[in-house]
Parts: sequence; structure tokens; C-alpha cells
Amino acid sequence: MDPVYSVVIPCYNEEESIGETHRRLTNVMRGMGESYELVYVNDGSRDDTPAMLDKLADGDDCVRVLHFAANRGHQVAVSAGLDYAQGQAVVIIDADLQDPPEIIPEMAARWKAGAGVVYGKRRSRAGESKFKEWSAKVYYRVLRKIAGDIFPEDTGDFRLVDKKVADVIRDMPEHARYLRGMFAWAGFEQEAVLYDRDRRYAGETHYPLKKMLRLAAHGIMSFSEKPLLWALWLGLIWLFMGGLLLLIALVMAIAGGNAGGVMRYAVTCLATGSILAALGILGAYLARVYEEVKGRPLYVVARTRGYEEENARG
Ligand code: UDP
Ligand code: MG
Repeated sequence: MDPVYSVVIPCYNEEESIGETHRRLTNVMRGMGESYELVYVNDGSRDDTPAMLDKLADGDDCVRVLHFAANRGHQVAVSAGLDYAQGQAVVIIDADLQDPPEIIPEMAARWKAGAGVVYGKRRSRAGESKFKEWSAKVYYRVLRKIAGDIFPEDTGDFRLVDKKVADVIRDMPEHARYLRGMFAWAGFEQEAVLYDRDRRYAGETHYPLKKMLRLAAHGIMSFSEKPLLWALWLGLIWLFMGGLLLLIALVMAIAGGNAGGVMRYAVTCLATGSILAALGILGAYLARVYEEVKGRPLYVVARTRGYEEENARG
């Protein structure tokens, strides 16, 4: 029988945290009194993590382990966990105990009350640099401006989602994965549970600035075509200026003045404008190609009425 809960835990070189994480998770999940599985995804760890996970699986029927052949990154590890999770609800939680497992029962209660996605919203973040805090704030502002305000602020990947929502993510084959955005895109009733983000239990972050920036770019580029169209707007401005200068040059020439200088500016503006506008038009087509290539489902049916269960997709 499928468990009620699946907990997906991406692990990359977490030998120092795994034991404690498993202890606390098991405590919480047992306390909830329903069936569960813990899906550990070993994302190509090179320390003792793989052996430790195998040992956990040997001693605990609730443990499943996926070993990646090589490191593929946090977002891919979580995606794999979602693919394999069999629960009615799926929890995503980091292996370093920055996300406290003790919040899960509250998330589950919201889910039972009808929420499709219950995400953890950080009230505070311990042990993180001022820079990370500040850059995250700025980033989410920019993201919401560019891509729309469906993306919740101060929210990572820590969340509990209904099986239906997990299925939507499984149906999104895009490679540039920005899961928190994909969950927001999926829709359904989304609710926040506030929590204080702890410092790492042990070890160091595996999200250096470079990976951070890549994820940030995925967030904007996977959910907005606007940057591709900026060249068009810029081009139109230059074309407008060029046209204006051309008009001035004409008037000057008719009035018998020397319009040569103004004319040169006009030609420069018009040339620059045409190139940028052409790039923008290319961008508009590229945006359509990108949209098609992403291969996302056109729509997500939350529920149906008057259909037999087996005909209802979702
Ligand atoms: N992680 C992973 N693959 C990676 C990097 C990280 O599976 O390539 C896991 C890591 O073990 C942890 C979670 O993703 O459980 C979040 O990573 P981390 O704590 O290093 O990031 P931070 O919390 O500092 O953003
Ligand atoms: Mg962490």
C-alpha cells in the first residue's frame, strides 16, 4: 500500500548531518501516526553519505535510497525524489536540518484542510550572511516584477505538496529547473507556514555564489519572456529618435541650413534602432520556440465533476 507521506531528502556530502536528520525526521513522522517513507536522494556524494544511507535502509523499512551516478545538483535531486515518491502527500526538506522537521505536522494539518501546496516561509534565517539575506530580498522583488507575483517571498523548497501537485511537476520535463517557481506555476490552493530557518547542522553550504546565480537565472528565464523583448523596446526608442532627427534635418535643409551633422546622427540612430528592433523580433520568435520546447502541460485540472474517476486527469 502506498504510504500517506513521502519525505524527499536531497543529500550531497552530508555525512555529518544524515544521522541526526534521520533521527529527527523519524521522530516527527512516527509521531504523526500514519504510514510514511523517507526518500533519500544521494546526489553523487563523495564522502560516507552513500554507505550511511544504505545502512539506514537496512535498519528501517521506511527508508528508500536513490543513488545518483554523478552529482546533478539540488533541484535535480529533488525532482528525482518527486518522481519516485509514492505518498499521498510529499514533503521536500533539506538534509542539513536548516528546515526544521518539527514543522511538518502543521503542514500536514493544512494539507488535510484542503491546501494543495503548503510552503515554509522563513520568518528569520540564522547563520546566514547579511549579503545572502539582502540579495535574496532584492532578487525576489526583481523576479516578481519581471515574471509576475505568483512567486512567494522568503520561500525555499521546503514544503509539503499533494500528490496531484507532485504529478504536475513530474509532467514538466524542462531541464532548467526552478522548482519553487514550478510549484507556484502549478496553482492549487497554496498556503504558507511560518518558520525560523536554523543554521546548518554541520558542514558548509553546497550552494556557492555561482550555483546561486544560475538558479536565480533559471527563475527569471524559465518564467518570463520579457528580457528577450527588451531589445525590441530599446530599438523602438532609437528608431523614434532617429525619425525625429531626420525630420529636423529635413526642416533644416528646406530652410537652407547645413543639415549634414544632424543627418549623420539621424542615420546612426536609425541603424542602431533597426538592429535592436530586429534582435527583439528574433527574441519574440525565440520566446515562442522556448515556450514550446519547455513542453509544459497547457493546463492543470484541479478536480472534475460529473466524470468517472478514471477519466479525470489529475
Ligand atoms: N544538495 C544536493 N546536491 C547539490 C548541492 C546540495 O543534493 O549539488 C543538497 C544538500 O545536501 C542539502 C540541500 O541540497 O540537503 C541544500 O543544500 P545546501 O544546504 O548546501 O544549500 P543552502 O541551504 O546553503 O542554500
Ligand atoms: Mg542548507
